[in-house]
Amino acid sequence: MKKLLTLFLSALLLFSLVSCSHRHTVESWSLNQHMHWHVCTECEKKTDSTPHEFRSNGICIVCNASVEQNSNGSYTVTVYDSNGKIRLKEYVFDADGNILNETVFQSDSASDGFINF
Ligand SMILES: [Zn+2]
Ligand SMILES: [Zn+2]
Repeated sequence: MKKLLTLFLSALLLFSLVSCSHRHTVESWSLNQHMHWHVCTECEKKTDSTPHEFRSNGICIVCNASVEQNSNGSYTVTVYDSNGKIRLKEYVFDADGNILNETVFQSDSASDGFINF
């Protein structure tokens, strides 16, 4: 048991030594109407920033978001699950990409999240 702990601690030490030039830790995609990107949870650096690539159904192949321009010039960006069936989040951005509103849909309330075609 003690040996295992030593092994664990030295692995941890090794990890903290190499983390100066760390691999960025990222969670879900951050996005606006133009781009998607990752933000490192450790250093808050923006990485992987690229423009959306929309499939024929209008959903980005990378971040599963669809973008709609509203009549007042703002944009509604809807993030779907990986099957493109369930709405997970909805953002509203102004023309400059500043966030105006964010709605998170409950993943367990199917009636709210499902899209009716
Ligand atoms: Zn980082
Ligand atoms: Zn995207």
